[in-house]
Amino acid sequence: MKIKKLKLSGFKSFVEPAELRIERGLTGVVGPNGCGKSNLLEAIRWVMGENSPKSMRSGGMEDVIFAGTAQRPPRDFAEVVLQCEDSDNEELEVTRRIERGAGSAYRVNGRDVRAKDIALVFADAATGAHSPALVSQGKIAGIITAKPAERRQMLEEAAGIAGLHVRRKDAESK
Ligand code: ATP
Ligand code: MG
Repeated sequence: MKIKKLKLSGFKSFVEPAELRIERGLTGVVGPNGCGKSNLLEAIRWVMGENSPKSMRSGGMEDVIFAGTAQRPPRDFAEVVLQCEDSDNEELEVTRRIERGAGSAYRVNGRDVRAKDIALVFADAATGAHSPALVSQGKIAGIITAKPAERRQMLEEAAGIAGLHVRRKDAESK
């Protein structure tokens, strides 16, 4: 799966509609502390169905909605759109929107879908909200200091081949 564009509105610090194009090669996001770099990674996780407020650094899921500042009133919804290309080069546009008191709603290519359907879209272990390819701030030190076997496990999960080792052992013992 190839991510092509991320659009945010009312999500965390991204109060005004914002767009991030992710083109071939390397895309870097730079900016001072607290400008919202980590919020972008969280937006990718969130639109892929993340349901743990803790991994969004939030107390509750509605906390992802722009909470307001001294100059700006809070928003009553947050929306993130992820445009990507699947392994068959099909264009996919996934939208997640949360409204205060109304929970989350998802759309794929403009059609309303259930959270369950989103889980299927991103079912591949190498993609999705829990993909080890999405490395949060603070996790890098963990990767560096991990034991070789743990590091191999992380890399296998990122490559989408986790479980092969277990299945091979299983096959050998038969
Ligand atoms: P660092 O370089 O320190 O890692 P960063 O660029 O990763 O910083 P983030 O952690 O993404 O920054 O952004 C944090 C900012 O987002 C804080 O200023 C915080 O107040 C703001 N923020 C988070 N949630 C909300 C929200 N619901 N409403 C408004 N602002 C929010
Ligand atoms: Mg950060």
